[in-house]
Amino acid sequence: PASRLPSVGTTIFTVMSALASETGAVNLGQGFPDFDSDPVLMQAVKDALDAGHNQYPPMAGLPALREAVAAKIAALYGTAYDPVGEITITAGATQAILTAVLALTQPGDEVIVLEPAYDSYEPSIEMAGARSVRVPLTPGTFRPDFDRIAAAITPRTRALIVNTPHNPSGTVWTETEMAQLAALLRPTPIVLIADEVYEHMVYDGVAHQSVARHPELAARSVLISSFGKTYHVTGWKVAYAAAPAALMAEFRKVHQFNVFTVNTPMQHALARYMADPRPYLDLAAFYQRKRDRFRAGLAGTALRLLPCEGTYFQSVDYSALPEPIAALDENAFCRWLTTEVGVAAIPMSAFYRDGVNQQIARLCFAKRDETLDRALGRLVESL
Ligand code: PMP
Ligand code: GLN
Repeated sequence: PASRLPSVGTTIFTVMSALASETGAVNLGQGFPDFDSDPVLMQAVKDALDAGHNQYPPMAGLPALREAVAAKIAALYGTAYDPVGEITITAGATQAILTAVLALTQPGDEVIVLEPAYDSYEPSIEMAGARSVRVPLTPGTFRPDFDRIAAAITPRTRALIVNTPHNPSGTVWTETEMAQLAALLRPTPIVLIADEVYEHMVYDGVAHQSVARHPELAARSVLISSFGKTYHVTGWKVAYAAAPAALMAEFRKVHQFNVFTVNTPMQHALARYMADPRPYLDLAAFYQRKRDRFRAGLAGTALRLLPCEGTYFQSVDYSALPEPIAALDENAFCRWLTTEVGVAAIPMSAFYRDGVNQQIARLCFAKRDETLDRALGRLVESL
């Protein structure tokens, strides 16, 4: 039979994690913490199980969790979403992205994706029968180029996916860039899919520019965030989408027949845990310390560090390493780094449709200090 996704193989994250475990490399490839989450959250799950919260929750998610999400967004960013009709709990951000694309596009519609892009966007668009139109972020800085985005807009453009803080580059959009985005979209009917899964990982005192800070953007956006990232529980696959009622009604039609509901005990636990804002408010300081420790260690190598304004990813340019290493393409370099140096990384080319090579690798610093130091020891010795 013909393939639904003919050009798709196994994701680079799975491939590199497998290679890391085969070779005993320190895995700084796939993005996930190697430390435990808060015991308070774990206890809340145990309590939810013991209390018998083990049957289907409401389709859109547990009301208490939707209320907690709405309260957080309102407090941090100023937009008041109605938890009844404007917030839905999803099985990870991945499902929210797919559901938004399926719900809001028709076959033949165009969806603009800024490249480098998280790897699930393109297959989601393809599964919807829509067409992805790739617009490069500015080479070198990875900042949005509004002239190029404007030039890509056609009467068929239905949606634009924006990811800030940005995986893999670590850039964080500024208030000015959000205003430029609002101006660009103003005369169009384009819907914004705002992937903000790293919203609480923005460093150096900078404020995350959620679409929920910009009422004009919020009015045309599906805002997506993930508890997996915020609470160090990527394996739970619980996230949420927030959007104005008309958009959310369409989103839920698809959600209803895509997953219908998301696991109940975790929703109870998250609702209780969210009552305390400190875990997400303290997250930026927690990861900024790790970023700084990691960057300071990497300064002892010949790697050039790209800026890291947000996310838990640090990208490095290896073009100043001695030949023949500097000449390897990103895939070969990341394999070499994993098998020969003992540190797994992700090639930035994995985030491009046509595998553009810039001699850049992405390293994840969501790791215990001991893990980071072990990786740094190997990197400093070999590079
Ligand atoms: N978007 C981006 C930019 C991500 O980095 C990730 C996690 N790798 C996701 C979406 C998916 O999040 P989840 O694990 O909640 O599906
Ligand atoms: N989002 C994580 C990353 O970018 C991994 C997610 C996955 O394995 N699909 O590394």
